[in-house]
Amino acid sequence: MFIDINKIGPEGVELDTALDLPELEGPSGETLQVRSNSLAATVVKGSRGVEFRGRLNAVVEVVCSRCLEPLDEPVRTEFFLLAVPDSEEGPAPDSADDPEEEALQEALLKVSDGRVDLTAVAVEQIYLNLSRKPICSRECRGLCAGCGVNRNNAECSCDRDEIDPRLAPLMKFREN
Ligand SMILES: [Zn+2]
Ligand SMILES: [Zn+2]
Repeated sequence: MFIDINKIGPEGVELDTALDLPELEGPSGETLQVRSNSLAATVVKGSRGVEFRGRLNAVVEVVCSRCLEPLDEPVRTEFFLLAVPDSEEGPAPDSADDPEEEALQEALLKVSDGRVDLTAVAVEQIYLNLSRKPICSRECRGLCAGCGVNRNNAECSCDRDEIDPRLAPLMKFREN
């Protein structure tokens, strides 16, 4: 879904929509489905560009980093973007270490043909906010390093797998 920033009048626009988002790619190249999403935004023409103040809610099916079972991760985030045509230089930094300027530079979104791709904006916000290592529960016991069984569901007969490899020589000593 696109929004044309040239058509934003001084009164601004309120958006509240669910987007048709593509599949995402997880940290190990796995496919992540976006189960639901809603994007609400206030779009107004400011002195330096078109300002987007947005709020994104989404639920993404991710994979537990310990046991590899799927789980739903909620993503809730608020963001600010300043859209400027990519032909323009954008706001020139007045001073390199003015934090407000820096924030503006970071929020800068260059758009061609005046069109802001809301789908791309939502996808970026989801990627920025997804956990790097999602876990299904704090107590998740993960997969056995020996046989690969999901230790949340089954016990296996492997030797204790929690042994720190650095301690393994000590264990051998004890066996002798
Ligand atoms: Zn898990
Ligand atoms: Zn095992």
